[in-house]
This record gives sequence, C-alpha cells and structure tokens, in this order.
Amino acid sequence: MRIPFIAGNWKMNTTAAEAERLVLEMLEQLDRIEGVEKVICPPFVSLVGLSMMLQSSSIGLGAQNMYFETKGAYTGEVSPLMLRELCDFVILGHSERRWYFAETDEVVNKKVKTALTNRLKPILCIGERLEENETGKTEEVVSRQVTAGLNGIEPVSGLVIAYEPVWAIGTGKAASGKQAAATIQFIRDVVAKLWNKNIAQNIRILYGGSVTSANIAEFISHPEIDGALVGGASLNAEEFTSIVERTAEIKGRAK
Ligand code: PEP
Repeated sequence: MRIPFIAGNWKMNTTAAEAERLVLEMLEQLDRIEGVEKVICPPFVSLVGLSMMLQSSSIGLGAQNMYFETKGAYTGEVSPLMLRELCDFVILGHSERRWYFAETDEVVNKKVKTALTNRLKPILCIGERLEENETGKTEEVVSRQVTAGLNGIEPVSGLVIAYEPVWAIGTGKAASGKQAAATIQFIRDVVAKLWNKNIAQNIRILYGGSVTSANIAEFISHPEIDGALVGGASLNAEEFTSIVERTAEIKGRAK
C-alpha cells in the first residue's frame, strides 16, 4: 500500500518571515490530517527556520533543487550535505529548472544519484511540453526522462516521481484525471522494466500541474495517482490544507 503524498512547491515565493507566517497559518490543521504524507518545499533560505518550526510535527520539508557535488568551489550552489541536516526531500528536474536553467537529463541524473547517496529522497519531475503533447510524443518524452534520470541508479522505493506536463504548470489548464492516470501507469511500467515490478509498485508517482482544492479529487480518485505536487495553490494555507484533507478522505475510502 503506497501512502498518499502531497507536496507544496513554493517556488521563488515568500521571504523567510512570510514563510514562517504561512506555516503558522496551516500548521495546526495540516498536522492533524492522518493517512497522507505532507511535505512543503520552501525557498532554501527558509529551510533552517521552518525545520525548527516543524520539528515535532507530521509535516515534512523538502528543498527545490541542489547541486550534484557535495562541497567545493561552486559559488552559489547548495549541497546535499547542507540539505540533509534540514530536510528529507529534494525536488529535482522541475521543468522550470530544465527550461530556464538548461538542466539536461544528464545533470538531473547526477543530482538524483548524489541525493540518494546522501540520504535525501528525490522528487524527480518529468513531463512533456505542449508541442510534444500535441504531436503524440508524451510517452516517448517521459520514458526518456525516467530512463535517463534513473540511469545507473540501484532500485530504491524511497524515490518519488512527479508527472508534471509542462503545459499544465501554472497555467490553470490541468490535465484530465484520466489522461494523467494513463501516463502515470505508463511511467510505472517504464520503472518496472528499468528496475523491477516490486519496486515500481512501491514508488509513489504524483500528478502536478494546476492542482487546486477544486480539482484534486479528479486526480487522486484514480488508484494509479498517489498524490500531487502543488505549486500556486500551496501558497494559500486554506487551499493547501483542503487539498490534503480531500486526499485523506478519498484515498482513505479506497483502502
Ligand atoms: C509546480 O510548480 O510543480 C506546479 C505544479 O505548479 P502549479 O501547481 O502552480 O501548476
């Protein structure tokens, strides 16, 4: 049984003071929700403060990126050794990193390897662009991204994959639940071939792209979809809490 998983990607939003206020707004209610793994991924500069605030809570922390070396002359980069004192998860290969910061599949693969070696759980993001979707290349693209992203890595069930069609991120145009579930099943089959069936069955695969409290049910009512990576809506305490609440209700009923 895979534990449902909801992560909030705050992207480059909130100062350290704003981040603490946002956590204070959601902490009590979110903390009480059982049966869903809840993770928030604030900017790097808030990880220290929030790791203290969330210490005795059921809410986990993740970073939004990291470098693939552990230390050295890499001005401005953040190492897995620094992150692992503060959080358990790290988002890797987000489409904004791939497209705005030219991260290739090879770079993402090095980051996934280094994260796992340093006991951080990667949330590996993959997804096709609009023109790839429209020309029927979705499966080819996600298959390439998963295969390259996991190249040379031993099977590990702690990895989380987020299927995020690029055209659905921040656009208000979410994929349909049916479409997302079919692609996620395809991704699970790719992992099964690459690693093995047992591990593929244990890995959580999320949907991401314009998820809100109004459409979360459409996704998590599909057994193939284990949760969501939420961007914009995770910056609103009420919205994020109700996304997690709906997930607990629907996945709890399906047990
Ligand atoms: C994301 O940043 O991973 C994301 C899915 O964003 P949004 O929910 O805003 O589309």
